Amino acid sequence: MSATKPYSTDPADLGFDPEELRAKYNHERDKRIRKEGFGQYKAAAGELEEYMVDHYVDPGFTREPLTDEVEVAIIGGGYGGLLAGARLREIGVESIRMIDKAGDFGGTWYWNRYPGAQCDIEAYVYMPLLDELDYVPTERYAHAPELLEHSRNIARHYDLYKDTVFQTEVSEINWDESSKRWIIHTNRGDAMKAQYIAMANGPLTRPKLPGIRGVEKFKGHTFHTSRWDYNYTGGSPEGGMTRLADKRVGIIGTGATAIQCIPHLGEDAKSLHVFQRTPTSVDARYNAPTDPEWKAKLKPGWHKKRVENFNNTLGGAYTDDDMVGDGWTDIFRNVGGIVTGDVDNLTEEQKDEVFELGDFQKMQEIRDRTDSIVEDPETANKLKAYYRQFCKRPGFHDEYLQTYNRPSVTLVDTNGQGVDEITESGVIVDGVEYALDCLIFSTGFETGSSYTSQSGYDLIGKNNTRLSEKWANGLRTHHGLTTHNFPNCFILGFTQTGVTPNATHMLDEQASQMAYIVKEARARHAATVEATKQGEDEWCDICDSYGDKTEQLLAQCTPGYYNNEGGGSNKNGFISGQYGGGAVKFFQILKEWREDGNLAGMEIK
Ligand code: NDP
Repeated sequence: MSATKPYSTDPADLGFDPEELRAKYNHERDKRIRKEGFGQYKAAAGELEEYMVDHYVDPGFTREPLTDEVEVAIIGGGYGGLLAGARLREIGVESIRMIDKAGDFGGTWYWNRYPGAQCDIEAYVYMPLLDELDYVPTERYAHAPELLEHSRNIARHYDLYKDTVFQTEVSEINWDESSKRWIIHTNRGDAMKAQYIAMANGPLTRPKLPGIRGVEKFKGHTFHTSRWDYNYTGGSPEGGMTRLADKRVGIIGTGATAIQCIPHLGEDAKSLHVFQRTPTSVDARYNAPTDPEWKAKLKPGWHKKRVENFNNTLGGAYTDDDMVGDGWTDIFRNVGGIVTGDVDNLTEEQKDEVFELGDFQKMQEIRDRTDSIVEDPETANKLKAYYRQFCKRPGFHDEYLQTYNRPSVTLVDTNGQGVDEITESGVIVDGVEYALDCLIFSTGFETGSSYTSQSGYDLIGKNNTRLSEKWANGLRTHHGLTTHNFPNCFILGFTQTGVTPNATHMLDEQASQMAYIVKEARARHAATVEATKQGEDEWCDICDSYGDKTEQLLAQCTPGYYNNEGGGSNKNGFISGQYGGGAVKFFQILKEWREDGNLAGMEIK
């Protein structure tokens, strides 16, 4: 134990050598850096358009264009849009139109129906509006069908199906100053009017493909995980893909999505080749059905309490009262174990060091777990992740690693370099061609492009201000929710907000904030409510004042979409420009702002 530090950095005490691990992590990162950064990926468009097909609707849907008017139009029918609708209904807004390109509500859970899809944050904190719907998930980490059905239940509970338009893609939204209305144009020829708009487009929605040589050439069957083709595979999100029994299947990607579907593919396909560039850290899931006795004891308000407790724990509250107590909160418990004395008395530098030690310890445990499950030591080694746990979305699964013990499953590790080439009949790695009947891309979603590129439409506000131009050099908002020159417009998502992995918590805070503002505007008979230039500048200054500590930390990580594929700062990066004080402080700021009641930083007319 050091004389000045209330914790040890001695490898003999720790059971691992921090210096050695740091060097190994750097080595693994460096070999993966690609100079093309985000440019290594291709959009699912043009000759790759087939990867966008919606397999869950009947083809040929048509309807008459709409030109009617509503009080609030919500773009996006996922949990974000549903929360917006719910909170607006609670303040008495009756005239709501929801718009989504999908065939039903659900957003992420509409599209991601791949076998084994499940929430990786505990359902008791991830699923929104559980108190309001008096619903308790059936298992600790709910599967996609339940998550999708919950979306529909929210829509039914709050009567949101009424006036909703599905299979409708917004193409442009214009502010009409004379009528003080937004005009929403879509691919269905609509020109709907709305007093307010709320954009809940979601951050990971447009499938992307790797720009591997020959990616368009494959002649077998192929699809992206977010457009699972059960007509081809047979089965359902529960598995049972009997039509794969005579098929040679390959999957590219081993991220959070892949680790959930690979066990089912391993079970059902004649053979499975997994093409890996970087392993995901896969810790134990310990999923279980909801305990009826625990459920019976829940008191009204239990959900809100648990959601806040999870957020506080991840926010570094170093609390003994960790209600969720799973792999997400482990590091924080580890930190408590490493330090002798009160964690709060550490200097900031010591906290960073202790946090790194806790992370090393956690990742070492996960690597040891791989050895204990995967029978072939060479395969086990290739499945070990050498980076800090939050460099990538941490994985949790109780059958993923076991899948590699099946004789029909082969891990093709590319030593960080990725697949070399795709041919008409298969995939080439290191000069070896793997012949396949079916090639599945589990290669994630478009990030690193502008907000308007990801949403698929531009917004033209007051004075002909285009959102794409206004945000060309980075986000500019007031509290991440409104932006100057765009009256009566709310943005829900990671837009200068405090980041939390529990996205639905963030969306609910934003939805509640939006509902509060609309309520105030209604009470004051206002036609418009808008962020002032000053209010926006002040919020941007606050965000800037945190500097880029998070970005710097992530820059040391293995490449991925969190750190702009290892390419350093990027004005459109996934976490770029976010409020750096964390979600706990961010929610507190919103709460105090509402309590203050002056709508500071906004102009109401
Ligand atoms: P990711 O972007 O996380 O993963 C893409 C995968 O494709 C990576 O393994 C990547 O490797 C690999 N890849 C890319 N290019 C190549 C190439 N040329 N050759 C070989 N492999 C390649 O996408 P996911 O869909 O897995 O996850 C996206 C996000 O969705 C998650 O981070 C998470 O936020 C969310 N998610 C949430 C879930 C939940 O339960 N709530 C479940 C699943 C996903 P490399 O790592 O080297 O880049």
